[in-house]
Amino acid sequence: MEMKDIPEPVLTEPNDVKIRMSVLGICGSDIHYYTQGQIGSQKVQYPFTVGHEGAGVVVEVGHSVKRVKPGDAIAIDPAMPCWKCDQCLAGRHHTCRKLRFLGCPGQAEGCLMEYIIMPEESCFPLTGKLIPDHGSISEPLAIGIYAVKKSGSVKGLNIGILGYGPIGMSVMLAAKAEGAHGYYVTDKIDKRLAIALKEGATFTGNPLKDNMVELIRKKESLGLDVVFECCGQQEAFDQAVEILKPGGRLVVVGIPEFDRWSMDGETTRRKEISLQFIRRQVDCVETTLELMKSGIISIDNMVTHRFPFSRTKEAFDLVAEYKDGVMKAMIDF
Ligand SMILES: [Zn+2]
Ligand SMILES: [Zn+2]
Repeated sequence: MEMKDIPEPVLTEPNDVKIRMSVLGICGSDIHYYTQGQIGSQKVQYPFTVGHEGAGVVVEVGHSVKRVKPGDAIAIDPAMPCWKCDQCLAGRHHTCRKLRFLGCPGQAEGCLMEYIIMPEESCFPLTGKLIPDHGSISEPLAIGIYAVKKSGSVKGLNIGILGYGPIGMSVMLAAKAEGAHGYYVTDKIDKRLAIALKEGATFTGNPLKDNMVELIRKKESLGLDVVFECCGQQEAFDQAVEILKPGGRLVVVGIPEFDRWSMDGETTRRKEISLQFIRRQVDCVETTLELMKSGIISIDNMVTHRFPFSRTKEAFDLVAEYKDGVMKAMIDF
């Protein structure tokens, strides 16, 4: 990783917004590109700028822009759909055929830079008590909100969250906002489990030390209603199938580093498990900002580390090595 001087970007389209970055959250996917050079078929061609969890201040706008003005603090939605294809017209612009997503190889450079141009549609003003951190965190948090929404409902239910990184935590915050009943959280890092307990987890367990299936079954003999796989691990997927009750729902949010999931054909069929995969989120940014603004969701336990822009590499190494109990590390510009 190296830092480069490049020309400041300029407005070209009438709906362009030029943004001075305030803060950037480091995402697991940025780390995948940093350490593996790819996620599945999406390969990095160097040089390439990563980063997509950003917030900033508007410095200049194109002549048709109405939603924001210079001086506004904003959250940046990294997705830039075409708004014209079958997916966009069906309201599924997160799976747009021509999607451009910040920091996604072959689509768009990321926002780990001081200035960036985004279309007006990607700019969400931070109002009330919302600060830049809220804007940045709204990206992963919206995925948690969306995953809970796609699960049907978790209100009054017992749920499992397997993998408690920032996405697992986002699912937890979203489920709490909706009022789930029991929260069964597992992770291989004890410091993350400590954060889960602070957030009110009913049960936390470390699969490196104990048998998660046995322990959760002991506490909830009928099984869990919904399990969110948030770590992209085959063993977590298998555990989910085991701890779900018949008719339970398995929501897969994690990004695996392998090519194929496998599943126990008998248990999934006998239990009639519903399976839902999650691709980022759609239309959840505003709701997410509202939930933080109203205080229903607090991100106080989410941000554990901060680094100045000049020390970005240190931040990436820390997150890549899961050091010092890191949950979310932020870069300040
Ligand atoms: Zn992200
Ligand atoms: Zn489209």
